[in-house]
Amino acid sequence: MKKTFIILSVFISIVTATGQDTNDKIVLQAMHSISSQELMDNVKIMCDEKYAGRLTGTKEYQDCAEWLAGEFSNFGLSPAGDNGSWFQWFNVPYTLVFPNCGVSLHIPLKKGGVISKQYRYITEFVPGSTSGNGEVTGEVVYAGYGITAPELNYDDYAGIDVRGKIVLIERESPVSPGAGAEKFNPWYKYSFHQHKLENASKHGAVGMLYNYGPIANPNNSYIENFIYVHVGDSVVKDVFTGTGFSYRDNLEKINKTLKPSSFNTGKNVTIKMSTRHFPDGKGSNIIGLLKGSDPELSKEVIIIGAHLDHLGNCYEMMPGANDNASAVAVMMGIAKAISQNHIQLKRSVMFISFGSEEQALLGSKKYIENPVFPLKNSVLLNMDGVGAGKSISITAGENYPTLWSIVRNENDAYIHATIKANYFPNLGRPRLDASIFMSAGVPSLNFATYGTPTPYHLPGDNIKIIDPEIMEDVCRLLFLTTVKMANSPAPIR
Ligand SMILES: [Zn+2]
Repeated sequence: MKKTFIILSVFISIVTATGQDTNDKIVLQAMHSISSQELMDNVKIMCDEKYAGRLTGTKEYQDCAEWLAGEFSNFGLSPAGDNGSWFQWFNVPYTLVFPNCGVSLHIPLKKGGVISKQYRYITEFVPGSTSGNGEVTGEVVYAGYGITAPELNYDDYAGIDVRGKIVLIERESPVSPGAGAEKFNPWYKYSFHQHKLENASKHGAVGMLYNYGPIANPNNSYIENFIYVHVGDSVVKDVFTGTGFSYRDNLEKINKTLKPSSFNTGKNVTIKMSTRHFPDGKGSNIIGLLKGSDPELSKEVIIIGAHLDHLGNCYEMMPGANDNASAVAVMMGIAKAISQNHIQLKRSVMFISFGSEEQALLGSKKYIENPVFPLKNSVLLNMDGVGAGKSISITAGENYPTLWSIVRNENDAYIHATIKANYFPNLGRPRLDASIFMSAGVPSLNFATYGTPTPYHLPGDNIKIIDPEIMEDVCRLLFLTTVKMANSPAPIR
């Protein structure tokens, strides 16, 4: 009897091991089916002119979303959006920016007369992506961070009159997130672009030079007839020249003393922006599901996230190849490899391509308010910018060691990419869909690639900078990680 039992046990474990081996073999075969060429082809499609830079709210964005939904359907995913569709809808006002934008500074000469200096698009200015339409000329008033915070006894507008004028404003706040939560949190709400723009307008300014890049960014408020532009060092330097203030010293003084140091510069600026605002835009997340097979574990979900949107035209087309066509292509690669190779999944796996990451993360916020699976049963593996660079960084890996150890093990066993995890305090303005999920209590990792200079929020983020090999590494790593998490006998969160 004992002997039979032993033989039976050995037999059972051989069968189990063989079953497991077969599944492992299928998984590895599926991993090898992921091709860098196919990932690259999909990046190219998303960067095509017909999708016009995928600004959420536009018809071109939704055309691209329909294409992605069609691919999800071809792969064999099930729609998990509103009312059995692929799409989860939300409202998103948006602004189109056209060519014929310009910035010039009018510098009074000591001997009388004025010279005007015209700035160059991209290198010296980028249009404010939600600027009003029209042209303004006025004196430039330096107004520090543009913050009015009564409870902090701080007001960049105290003692200056900006009515009818144009303010020059810094990004962020005098206290940075790096100073730690306790010091930074009181400043948090004032560090938003929206506060700066609305506050400038409230004080009567007609326009704003925003010392921000210059890069494009549609994450801001729209105020009719309020004209603004993003500028960089060359404009700031010209504004400060001859004022008696050193730009660096003045800014350091504000940061150190937490006392504003605003002043009239005596120079005029003309900003011309050509825009049109659409207050009633509709945007969507695209959601595809692979339901798990285990009656209990399938109630849990591993979400693969990658925002589809980018910045549209500002005023040239911004293709957003790295940010974030690369990640959507990788997401598609994972979905296809799992589904078409019939990989067994105990937990459910869901693919969400978010809209409006670039417009205040409206897509991920919408999902958090209307989740398909309970948030307490969810984990998120998000990607943002995985198409350029040599190495892979995993934001919040140290916050969620269970998730991170699975990623690390799969990398050590099969991919051998250079990867690193970090601790993510999730302070400051959230700049990732993953940070919205983390704030809602969902364990989340964010994958990005780094190690080569990569244009960000500029027309240079185009197909030429994409490295198909790093995308393939990320795709294979996330594919293996997803399958491992879906079938893990141990809890994953
Ligand atoms: Zn992005």
